[in-house]
Amino acid sequence: RTVYLNGEYLPEEEAKISVFDRGFVMGDAVYEVTSVLGGQILEFEGHMARLQRSMDALEMTGNLSRDEWLEIHRELVARNGIDEGLIYLQVSRGNAGDRDFHYPPAGTPPTIVLYTQAKPGLADDPKAQKGIKVVSMPDLRWHRRDIKTVQLLYPSMAKMAAEKAGKDDAWFVEDGFVTEGSSNNTYIVKGGKIITRQLSHDILHGITRASLLKYAAESQMEIEERPYTIEEAQQADEAFYTSASAFVMPVVEVDGVAVGSGKPGPVALRLREIYLDESRKSAL
Ligand code: PLP
Repeated sequence: RTVYLNGEYLPEEEAKISVFDRGFVMGDAVYEVTSVLGGQILEFEGHMARLQRSMDALEMTGNLSRDEWLEIHRELVARNGIDEGLIYLQVSRGNAGDRDFHYPPAGTPPTIVLYTQAKPGLADDPKAQKGIKVVSMPDLRWHRRDIKTVQLLYPSMAKMAAEKAGKDDAWFVEDGFVTEGSSNNTYIVKGGKIITRQLSHDILHGITRASLLKYAAESQMEIEERPYTIEEAQQADEAFYTSASAFVMPVVEVDGVAVGSGKPGPVALRLREIYLDESRKSAL
């Protein structure tokens, strides 16, 4: 596999990063995951806009331009022959020399890494036809979940705990209400209405979420942005989640209770279709 590191395209085994890199030592890095379908990049503008917001929130400098990013994405897709898959992008605050909590001096170049992961069949994931089962867990993450940092230890612990419980994923709960999934935004459907938590520092502002709500509104679907509880999710007609890598994924069980019919619901399946159609149309 050919990867990108700080201006160079390299075989993956030749791409090396300093042991002093703040991404490694401090988790001082932000990232994006973008899907590729039919060799084209989905939601490129949205991911680049959020990357800039994450970097701004952490006062990270040295971002590339939109056109530079697009060239790198396309070059990696071409060099690695990706038809369906993911592009992982990470920007860390760079090599700061000796370990120090303070940020390095202005002008220290960030460390920029991108690589592809081939995922044949990404759009036809059989899990979408079966639906997935989730368990709730307390949301023990920090309170700036709107910044997409690489500090993913708690989501990893949650996914491991869900797997141990024989389920597929975790939904996080704080002050009695669902915040989001371990790596996705969550929704319930009741009486035809799509309900999802409103944007704040409490959740990641999903790129898939933003587009999905736009497409749903254009299809005359009713949307309510507010928090909801696990009990309300269990009594909903349908549940689902969204992310760049899963698109729209039906959720058929929450904490051992079947949601609706216990099968993927018509609204979730229709939204998945609409999302895939529309995001392919705007792919670059
Ligand atoms: N929420 C969290 C915590 C995530 O990690 C992710 C994606 O990685 C999302 C939501 C979904 O965001 P997006 O649709 O931009 O992939």
